[in-house]
Amino acid sequence: MLELAKEQIAMGQSAADKGQALRLLADCLVADGLVAEGYLQGLQDREEQGSTFLGQGIAIPHGTPQTRDQVFATGVRLMQFPEGVDWGDGQMVYLAIAIAARSDEHLRLLQLLTRALGETDLAQALRRARSAEALLKLLQGAPQALALDAQLVSLNLPADDFEELAWRGARLLQRAGCVESGFAAMLQQAEPLPLGEGLWWLHSERQVRQPGLAFITPQQPLRYRDQPLNGLFCLASLGAAHQALLERLCEVLIEGRGQMLYQATSSRTVLEVLGGEVPADWPSARIVLANAHGLHARPAKVLAQLAKGFEGEIRIRLLDDSQPAVSVKSLSKLLGLGARRGQTLELIAEPNIANDALPVLLAAIADGLGETVEALPEASTEEVLVVAEPLSAPVPGSLIQGVPAAPGIACGPAHICVERDIDYPLRGVSPSQEREQLRAALETVNAELQALVQRSDKAIGEIFITHQEMLADPALMDEVEQRLGQGESAAAAWMSVIEAAARQQEALHDALLAERAADLRDIGRRVLAQLCGVIDTPEPAEPYVLVMTEVGPSDVARLDPQRVAGIVTAQGGATAHSAIVARALGIPAVVGAGAAMLLLAPGTPLLLDGQRGRVSVAPAADELQRALTERDQREQRLQQAWASRHQPAVTRDGHAIEVFANIGGSQGIDKVVEQGAEGVGLLRTELIFMAHPQAPDVATQEAEYRRVLDGLDGRPLVVRTLDVGGDKPLPYWPIASEDNPFLGVRGVRLTLQRPQIMRDQLRALLQAADGRPLRIMFPMVGQIHEWREAKAMVEQLREEIPVADLQLGIMVEVPSAALLAPQLAREVDFFSIGTNDLTQYTLAIDRGHPSLSAQADGLHPAVLRLIDMTVRAAHAEGKWVGVCGELAADPQAVAILLGLEVDELSVASRSVAEVKALVRQRDYQTARALALEALQQDSAAAVRALVEHY
Ligand code: PEP
Ligand code: MG
Repeated sequence: MLELAKEQIAMGQSAADKGQALRLLADCLVADGLVAEGYLQGLQDREEQGSTFLGQGIAIPHGTPQTRDQVFATGVRLMQFPEGVDWGDGQMVYLAIAIAARSDEHLRLLQLLTRALGETDLAQALRRARSAEALLKLLQGAPQALALDAQLVSLNLPADDFEELAWRGARLLQRAGCVESGFAAMLQQAEPLPLGEGLWWLHSERQVRQPGLAFITPQQPLRYRDQPLNGLFCLASLGAAHQALLERLCEVLIEGRGQMLYQATSSRTVLEVLGGEVPADWPSARIVLANAHGLHARPAKVLAQLAKGFEGEIRIRLLDDSQPAVSVKSLSKLLGLGARRGQTLELIAEPNIANDALPVLLAAIADGLGETVEALPEASTEEVLVVAEPLSAPVPGSLIQGVPAAPGIACGPAHICVERDIDYPLRGVSPSQEREQLRAALETVNAELQALVQRSDKAIGEIFITHQEMLADPALMDEVEQRLGQGESAAAAWMSVIEAAARQQEALHDALLAERAADLRDIGRRVLAQLCGVIDTPEPAEPYVLVMTEVGPSDVARLDPQRVAGIVTAQGGATAHSAIVARALGIPAVVGAGAAMLLLAPGTPLLLDGQRGRVSVAPAADELQRALTERDQREQRLQQAWASRHQPAVTRDGHAIEVFANIGGSQGIDKVVEQGAEGVGLLRTELIFMAHPQAPDVATQEAEYRRVLDGLDGRPLVVRTLDVGGDKPLPYWPIASEDNPFLGVRGVRLTLQRPQIMRDQLRALLQAADGRPLRIMFPMVGQIHEWREAKAMVEQLREEIPVADLQLGIMVEVPSAALLAPQLAREVDFFSIGTNDLTQYTLAIDRGHPSLSAQADGLHPAVLRLIDMTVRAAHAEGKWVGVCGELAADPQAVAILLGLEVDELSVASRSVAEVKALVRQRDYQTARALALEALQQDSAAAVRALVEHY
């Protein structure tokens, strides 16, 4: 997405003419690596087709569809021309915004600019701006329009007092997207203003996203501060957006027409009096926009011109969009809609011109507004009615098939953790009473935390100790005290302070502090629940099966393996966060079991089989017994596996495979070796970067890598270079947001665009090696040039820092890399197959998709075929292949990967002993036969069934 930043602005430029200005802009885009040289031609061609002059001294030069492939990265560069450049027809440009974009991303920029375009003398202000900051302010700081429409008017509400009306007003504004959830509390602190005729006014500027006005009237007349209370205006104030409305309201009141507002029985009357959004009963018509690049400047100009031919008001809005309708006659407002091809426009016209105007405008839009348009695909005329089946809890005896996420059998009562919304009063009874309630709630929560500290192990206990410290933080309590003094309820005061503190933490853009924000909210909620008497279902006394929607990062700490026997989640797949966490903690888990699980009665006995992905609800006694016997046998097997964890993994007929560990940093490296790993097969270095508030420098990284190599004591270390971007951004590394981050600038694509970061990391790695076996691999390689460029960087550094035992390879996680394996294998030293991403890209299923990821099974024959191709290509060139995705630890997959002749498996360290033991039970020749048969299957389920019977 295109956003504006001051670093993109070059102030005080001059150009003799438009041609020279375009060259300057193109040079700047090229120098910053956004486009190739040929993009200049695109800028020139585009101007030939039609000027990109936008109005108010601004032009937005951009390329043509033919030059889109010259764009390396989406971005903009701005140049101020204080002396002006004639953009044709005497239209002077003082600010040119050159856009490098492959698609219609410039529409978003237009949307952003239109607020500024509404300003009357912007051109001169842009010309005179002295700094990039000032210029940016001019572009972004123009006031937003005040939201005031039917959804913001609520009449005859059954409310008992002023507070309740204010609360309802805040709710309306929140629902309309004007304010954040904390706005209600802000409003309660504001000083109410009587307007006369029983109308009152309240406003706040805090927690406001977009200016908006709500109007509410009570069902029966109320009194407030000894005056009538007939209606209340709640303003979410931002800048001067409400000025015009306020003037109008004053006029209404001076003319003594206030009763038209508080006696109104329809929102339409209120809006007519106040000049709000167009009443809903004006004639309207809808049409789907077919222009390939949406309603951009040229077609918008045509539409506005056409509308100006009609005397009267015509408005337009995007259907399915919360933005209010805008005047069709305003070019800037039209552009502000950001309408794209395929979106439905609704035109609304004053009744006296509607019959004439609407057909003309509709026909013009259908004709493409001066552009040739390709017809939209026929939409089905039959309305598709999706009837959602009402969910009900699974009945006793049902067997639910989910996704196997962490092996093991577990049983216990269900502990259902679903967060519920808690409503609370905003005003308190009296400060002393509220203070007392809060004190009692804090004391209870503190005692609960103390109990948790006592029964948790040290690491988890420390988290609860931190929570206790937060509860006792005097700074928080001072603020709460102040609010109580102003009449807020204990709950409102507590929640506003907690929310404000959490936001402050988040604003620091530090991953660790952001975690603290989650902790704060967590603790905030615990206290709120106490205050409101909402009893979260108590944890069962015996070890239980935790049932949640999804296990998020802030839940991880609470997963005490002593208490949580198993995990069932409603959403998620085998590579989802919850699954990885459960495996790392050794808790049996089934994920993606469906939302009905959340409806189970607390305490319902559950039996889960994490290996087969099954959950039995209230199982029969004999089923339970069988499962428990199996669990005991597995326990025994694990104990045996543990005893022989340091033995190599060799099949019964003598075929050896290496078993390595996946880690995220140097902490716990000793444990890795202790758990039997023969090396590290995947060091996810992004976790090291994420643990720092800014990119760690070479020395910091070198120390970290050294610790890992020291801990490995001569065993090999396979390091993956930084794998961020797309869905896992680094907070301190701004990356333009993308529509499809999984298909965007991520992994090696990103680091190649930031060569300095990559070079620093490689330098730190080479310096840390000191003769020890180091393997470096690059993530998300999809093209051979990416591998070659990355390799060249290492080779260059190697001339400076000699390394004795170095191998370079790539991760195979993009299908193109597997398909290209024969070519790549000639150049790489090894491949490591990232089955998590390889599965997601092969099956086109987002690995974290709430409902689909359950099908993202790495044992799908399509994925197995890619693994097979990769191994065969590598072996033909004498290179080795590892598998480091979650599939490597799946007990049903081990024999197949062995049979596909993979040379190394890299798994969570606690799975090392088990995987080794599974290999030892196998016969290599049988595994070969199993793998060959698996390749012939037509689904993952068929492969799993095959393994069961082998
Ligand atoms: C993979 O994609 O399989 C992999 C190991 O990388 P990550 O899970 O870190 O994306
Ligand atoms: Mg990956």
